[in-house]
Formats: sequence, C-alpha cells, structure tokens
Amino acid sequence: MPIEPSIEPELNAFTMDAAPSTTLVAIRLDTNERLSSNDLPPDVLRALSEARLLRCPHCQGLLTFKAGTVRVHHFAHLNLTACASADHEPETDAHRQGKLRLFQQFRVGASFAALEQHLPITDQRADAFVQFDTQRYALEFQQANNTAEHWLERHHLYRQQNIADVWFLGKIRYQEHTSTAAISSFDPLPVPRDVFGAVSGAFRMREMEKAMLSLNPQLRYLDPDTGEVTLLLMRDLHGNTLRAYRYQFPLTACELRLGDLYTPLEPLLDDFYAYHNRRKER
Ligand SMILES: [Zn+2]
Repeated sequence: MPIEPSIEPELNAFTMDAAPSTTLVAIRLDTNERLSSNDLPPDVLRALSEARLLRCPHCQGLLTFKAGTVRVHHFAHLNLTACASADHEPETDAHRQGKLRLFQQFRVGASFAALEQHLPITDQRADAFVQFDTQRYALEFQQANNTAEHWLERHHLYRQQNIADVWFLGKIRYQEHTSTAAISSFDPLPVPRDVFGAVSGAFRMREMEKAMLSLNPQLRYLDPDTGEVTLLLMRDLHGNTLRAYRYQFPLTACELRLGDLYTPLEPLLDDFYAYHNRRKER
C-alpha cells in the first residue's frame, strides 16, 4: 500500500493570526442584558449602537452594530484593539453563519444556551454552548486550520470540564480526491450503503482532521449556506488520504444525545463502531 508523504499543504487564508474584532453577542448597558445580533429588530440595535449602549461581553469594549450587505448581522469593536477573548478564528460571514446555525438548531429545548460562551476556568470561548439537564455541550464550527496539538488541547480542556465538544468542520475544508467507488463493493466494512446518498470516495485530510479521526472514525462537515451536513465514515487512512463512505442530510435532522451528536445515520452504525473498536484492540 503506497504511503503518501505527510505534507501539510497551505490553507493560509484561514490561519489564526488576525485579531478577532467582531462578535455575535453584546451586553446592553441600560438593562445589562446579553443580546444576540438577531434577538432584536435591526433598527432597535442600530439605535442602541448609536447611543453607545452596546459592549463586548469578553473585553468590555464598545461595540457598533453591523447590518447591511453581510448575511449575518453582528457587532464590531469600535476600537480595533485585539479583543481579549481566546480561542477563535478570524470572523468571516461564513463562520458567523455556521455558528449561528448550530446555535439555532441545538438551543431548542435546552435549559441554557448561549452564543460565544466564555468558559472562565480554561479561558475558552465556545462558538455555541448548550445545556440539557446536567449535560453540557460546546459546539464548534471550525473553518480555520489548526495543528493537531492545538485541536487536541482544546478538546481535552473541554473534556476536563465534563463538556462534550462537538465539532463541525466548515464545508470549505472538504476535499474529494474521488467520489466514486474508492472502496470495493465487496469490502467487509459494515456500513449502510443505500441511505442518505451513500457513496464511497477518497478524501484529503490535514493534520487537524487526522487528530479528530484518531479519536472518532468519522468527520462531520457543515455547509453554512445550506445547512447541509456531510458525514464521512472512515474505512482507512494512509498518509493524508482517507477512504471513507460519505453521507448527506440536513442539520435540522440532527440532535444532541448522550454527550454526542445524534444523526439520522446513528441507529445504523452499531456494526461500524464494533468494527473500529476491534481494530483498536488489536
Ligand atoms: Zn471584545
């Protein structure tokens, strides 16, 4: 089996160096309420912004309301000093849209839900944070590139606090080599083959994806524009090439259960998980 060299190709349009200057939440100074940028009509938020009544919940800096040609209304820091909040990527419209979708989907029925929730113990900021009974979830929409070490650190910091971290990769990270028959139809991999548009293919992986796969043999991508989830179930990984089955379904068909994402595919995956557990034990 040929092993590809472990090259980390550049995706540097999405590196971590730019200071974040926008946020989807603000503290309203006259009432001390925490607001999301879609909680109130735009003209109300614009008036609050003009009265200088909006502050950043992370760094306390003054915020101004932004609505116009962007798809997702948001707040921007008036002074371009770096916001103190840790752990997030340069804000793009697509990133705002992705985390807003996660928040809107999974806040339903939660006892607590917040966008861009700061976690003081580890100084992390979850894109969206929800709680059901005692189970807490951090939902992350990850478009930026990250080293394996940095991703693992973020993962472990969540787990140390008993927070279930659920990661969606931006669809922009999805790279097909081929989407046809990369796995023989006689392959013993026990996956469902006739549901949710199943197709086998080969996909290019980067270091962060490989770190994710070392813990869970599947990857989830979210298209922030359409809300479609693409899920890859791992066959095997050689170098930077993943052979996998690919499925697609809407985010609205997904739930959070038992500390993980529950997709409509989940009831069909017992044999798949058993297969990977046996491989790990060997
Ligand atoms: Zn700030």
